[in-house]
Amino acid sequence: MERVIIIGSGPAGLTAAVYAARANLAPLVLAGGQYGGQLMLTTEVENYPGFPDGIMGPDLMIKFREQAERFGARIENVDATGVDFSSKPLVVRAGEDEYQAKTVIVATGASARWLDVPGEAKLRGRGVSTCATCDGAFFREKQIVVVGGGDSAMEEALFLTRFGSRVTVIHRRDSLRASKIMAERARSHEKIGFIWNTVVEEVLGDEYMTGLLLRDVVDGTTTEYPCDALFIAVGHTPNTAIFQGQLDLDETGYIVSPNGSETNVEGVFVAGDVNDLRYKQAITAAGSGCKAAMDAERHLEAVEYAVGMLTTRGTG
Ligand code: NAP
Repeated sequence: MERVIIIGSGPAGLTAAVYAARANLAPLVLAGGQYGGQLMLTTEVENYPGFPDGIMGPDLMIKFREQAERFGARIENVDATGVDFSSKPLVVRAGEDEYQAKTVIVATGASARWLDVPGEAKLRGRGVSTCATCDGAFFREKQIVVVGGGDSAMEEALFLTRFGSRVTVIHRRDSLRASKIMAERARSHEKIGFIWNTVVEEVLGDEYMTGLLLRDVVDGTTTEYPCDALFIAVGHTPNTAIFQGQLDLDETGYIVSPNGSETNVEGVFVAGDVNDLRYKQAITAAGSGCKAAMDAERHLEAVEYAVGMLTTRGTG
């Protein structure tokens, strides 16, 4: 029986692991087949305190992992595929394997959203992508489109200027959601252009992407736009599929935790983007991971003290 299982290995999960490990709880981290969360798919992180010159996202996550392991966290690169929180002990499954725990910290994060338009699924990996750092280098001297108006879209567009001959940001409104500094960087970049009030109706191409069918949302006209790559940066969906029916979720799928990191199931705590509709920063995720680990530790102390009292009474 584990005292703490942490599901997820982004900044929230691995910070929870550092704190739980330093509290001598020897946490088991089910890190996912690809550990490290969304920062593994990003380039330079400039706003994580302590790194005045910035740090590459994957390098930061390697440091998180090393720090957790240094204090005794056990990290397994497996995906949690199911849970049973209906009774104690809490159960977490990873394929054929079943783990039992007194407490669980859910830090499964969020995944990039797709547009769900015709042609998109067929041309994934053949021009369509949600990860510029993964796929940008395939499009040297090509015409690249980024869809979205948030910080992710600006970051992707700026990164893709290293490769593309031109990067065009297509946004469904006429103003950006991105922070001022990111928006200004993108707007002032000579390789980046903008198409406003426009949505993608279809991704065109047979074997490889050849263009987009665009619709102007103001006058309703559609046009074919030739290009070689489409990078989608339209936000994220919380990774909560395995918690349906087990934990309270809100209407958009985020885990509900009205009281700190506590969920509706005693002994199950939550941290990071999986219940953060608002901030979604590495530093806020890390902070919430710390809180969840401290809450789990306190809960364990109370439960183990109560069991100890019962045992003492029983034998006395
Ligand atoms: P976001 O802020 O939610 O922005 C999503 C963008 O996609 C919005 O502009 C939205 O348009 C657009 N969009 C959503 N659904 C769409 C659809 N179906 N079709 C077309 N456009 C669609 O998400 P994000 O950019 O991933 O950022 C998430 C969080 O991470 C934010 O808090 C952000 O500040 C943070 N972040 C920070 C950095 C950084 O500081 N360097 C980098 C990346 C992310 P509307 O504007 O019309 O809603």
